[in-house]
Amino acid sequence: MSKKLLVVEDSKAIVSIIKKIGESLGYEVSIAESLAEVETLMQSNTEYFAATIDYALPDAENGEAIATILSHGIPGVVMTGKMDDETRKKILDQPVIDYIPKENSQAFMYLKRILYWQSANIGTGVLVVDDSVTARNHISELLKRRNFTVYAAESGVEALKILQKQNDIKMVITDLEMPGMDGIELTNEIRKVYNRDQMTVIGISGADNATYSARIIKNGADDFIRKPFCPEEFYCRITQHVENLHNIVKIQKAANTDYLTELPNRRAFFKKARKSIAYYAENKIPYGLAMIDIDFFKTVNDTYGHEAGDHILKMLAENMEKCLTEASLARFGGEEFAILLPGSDQAAIYQQLDVFREKIASAQFNHDEHYINFTVSIGVVFNSVSSLEDQLNQADIALYSAKENGRNQIVIST
Ligand code: GH3
Ligand code: MG
Ligand code: MG
Ligand code: MG
Repeated sequence: MSKKLLVVEDSKAIVSIIKKIGESLGYEVSIAESLAEVETLMQSNTEYFAATIDYALPDAENGEAIATILSHGIPGVVMTGKMDDETRKKILDQPVIDYIPKENSQAFMYLKRILYWQSANIGTGVLVVDDSVTARNHISELLKRRNFTVYAAESGVEALKILQKQNDIKMVITDLEMPGMDGIELTNEIRKVYNRDQMTVIGISGADNATYSARIIKNGADDFIRKPFCPEEFYCRITQHVENLHNIVKIQKAANTDYLTELPNRRAFFKKARKSIAYYAENKIPYGLAMIDIDFFKTVNDTYGHEAGDHILKMLAENMEKCLTEASLARFGGEEFAILLPGSDQAAIYQQLDVFREKIASAQFNHDEHYINFTVSIGVVFNSVSSLEDQLNQADIALYSAKENGRNQIVIST
């Protein structure tokens, strides 16, 4: 079920912009144009994931709607045309997600980011480390408003224990001055286990020492925030770091994935297969390494078009995943795939591959009102002691024999 976003706004033009943003992020959007309408809505349903709240409404000109929405437990982002210090303070004294001055179109870009991360942050853990309970609670409270799962530790030692237990933690925010292990030592310890692509570390300090910021960053932290800080700055930095981690994951995934079938690519396969084969060898687990190639694929392209060919490649990948659940799979390029398949013995592995081959041969694939049949040839090598490259080579030679012998069959490398 999609999450509900409440848009409180009296300007129809702005309503339409925010509604579009909300819907593009998958929210179901409700609108209230006045405080009176908010109150009516609240009588029937308060199950909103978030609200955007216009500071000045016709019947609530001084931000009165904020308290009403928050009192129903709905997290709110305030949109305001006013930017004086007094208004800002009045807004930030309440536990809002953020406030956004409606200066220009950037305001709406920023709103979109906030609303995106309000759901994307769910399930991401942040560990707050500070010996002061007040500081710990303050930072934890700010993070909870952004839907992070928050863990707190009062010392470096406790922090390391929590990190070992909770593998959802992606960010550590640590005070620098703590008795026992200080923030710099803690950062050092964290970096022995997690690199910067895996874990963000942010140092926080109130000490009047200009070299602190440089020291913590040189010791492996990603950022430094000086106390006291304003919530806006805190949120901007946190969001930037979360976006960084997210982009790294996306880049890593793209670098290891075939764009068409979304199977691992050749490079990812080599990495994974080397580890798996070492494990199988050590534990005496039989396995087969197979190369598979679509028969007469050029004819599929020539007869039904390149798009149909692409569709067939995707269908083949999907069927491999469904049929060979224990296997490591990859698209090596073109219409060629690799399979690393463990099993109880050689016969059982062969049988699985042959069931798969038979399944493809007897299936009909529907594309653009055409029913397309195709077959695959497979070359497989069993428990070879040679290098992964050699094994793949042997499987390739067996595949070539399968083609020579008439296709739609498996040949075992001898
Ligand atoms: P064989 O049974 O001997 O394997 O014959 P074949 O036609 O499958 O082999 P051939 O190597 O002659 O042709 C492979 C074709 O695969 C040619 C190429 O256009 C097509 N192909 C490679 N990559 C893609 C792709 O990503 N999408 C589509 N649609 N076609 C592709
Ligand atoms: Mg207004
Ligand atoms: Mg301290
Ligand atoms: Mg082929």
